[in-house]
Amino acid sequence: MTDVVIVGSGPAGLAAADKLSAAGHKVMILDRMASPARKFLLAGRGGLNLTHSEDIGIFLERYGSGRSFLEPLIRRFDPQALRRFAEDLGQETFVGSSGRVFPKAMKASPLLRAWLARLEKQGVTFRLRQTWEGQDDEGRNLFRAQDGSLEALPARATLLALGGGSWPRLGSRGDWLSVVEGWGVDVAPLRPSNCGFLCNWSPFFAERFAGQPLKRIELAHEDIRQRGEAMISRSGIEGGAVYALSAPLREAIASEGETVLSIDLRPDMDVATLASRLSRPRAKQSLSTFLRKAAGLLPVEVALLRESLTPQNGSPEALAAAIKQVQLKLTGTSGMERAISTAGGIRLEALDDGLMLRQRPGVFAAGEMLDWEAPTGGYLLQACFATGMAAADGILAYLAAGKASA
Ligand SMILES: Cc1cc2nc3c(=O)[nH]c(=O)nc-3n(C[C@H](O)[C@H](O)[C@H](O)COP(=O)(O)OP(=O)(O)OC[C@H]3O[C@@H](n4cnc5c(N)ncnc54)[C@H](O)[C@@H]3O)c2cc1C
Repeated sequence: MTDVVIVGSGPAGLAAADKLSAAGHKVMILDRMASPARKFLLAGRGGLNLTHSEDIGIFLERYGSGRSFLEPLIRRFDPQALRRFAEDLGQETFVGSSGRVFPKAMKASPLLRAWLARLEKQGVTFRLRQTWEGQDDEGRNLFRAQDGSLEALPARATLLALGGGSWPRLGSRGDWLSVVEGWGVDVAPLRPSNCGFLCNWSPFFAERFAGQPLKRIELAHEDIRQRGEAMISRSGIEGGAVYALSAPLREAIASEGETVLSIDLRPDMDVATLASRLSRPRAKQSLSTFLRKAAGLLPVEVALLRESLTPQNGSPEALAAAIKQVQLKLTGTSGMERAISTAGGIRLEALDDGLMLRQRPGVFAAGEMLDWEAPTGGYLLQACFATGMAAADGILAYLAAGKASA
């Protein structure tokens, strides 16, 4: 019999498989997709930000309320360990200017190729195009093949590493939620995280400016500020700085129905300096030309000012204040389809120290399907690897104690 069935071939599942097979266990990985780790490969298109080099205390803060649960796991498999792991697979890493850590190849495929080869050497077997539908009364995992047939696979332990619900076409669809809820496991609904937001753009603005970046801006929501970049989309706004504020923005919309995001288009210039530049005679220039010349605003920024809730007629001081506080009404998230990650999932209290479901002995869980969230910056993959490794430790202890679920 297989010692461990791992469902999900993302980084969390593969990390656990690596540790378990290296310890001599017979491991089988199943996934609904036709090839492993599709989302990991997609993450590689953006350079594959594996982790972050900042001080570990600051690093751990990024997990917010999930910190106390994740801290011991990340301290056991920390950013240095993740860099060594990549380097063992022949993928040297480097620290980018923002402190983020990337493989030198700036993509996931060479790392994944080397990783899969190592797993194969360690005896891990893969079965693809198999959709997990739960377990039968004897604790065997039920898999639906593409031809519709259902197979029950016994194993001494099971690891669920099924991911969240974002980018569902890559395999992670959150369809496991109702199954584990049916076992009595406490779950939080899946919600988009690191996602874009909807604004009611005018048709002209959406048509003309979708895809254009807003660079070197500062976003504010209540008392939280975030510098960086954003991007106008057809339906709203997305990009790094928006993702960083996505949790408070999402929660505000959930409770109020809408919220206001404020954009400072000139964060390096104070209102007085900007106002003095805007006091120059405008002569016959159009407002757009004047704002471009006097305040350095790009056409997209001038148009954004017009789209905003902020009145712009009036004194140079009022105009300067408007440029430093472009107010946008956000009416919703742009949904799971293109969110980078997911909030919600199996509540952390539902797991024991070895990441076994308290309600379902022999079944462990790891990765993004657990109820933590973090901004982009390498924190997501770091936590997926660390929880995968920790679940493997939990399974090793469980098997060593001679226990078996099916
Ligand atoms: C565009 C994009 C860019 C990203 N960039 C980064 C980045 O640079 N740095 C970073 O830290 N994070 C990044 N992420 C996030 C990161 O990729 C995820 O957090 C991570 O892949 C989650 O790992 P996981 O193993 O928990 O789940 P996943 O990688 O989602 O893997 C879960 C697997 O389970 C399978 N599965 C799900 N349900 C079933 C079922 N019922 N039956 C069988 N199989 C099933 C899926 O097919 C999938 O292969 C990015 C995400 C996206 C979308």
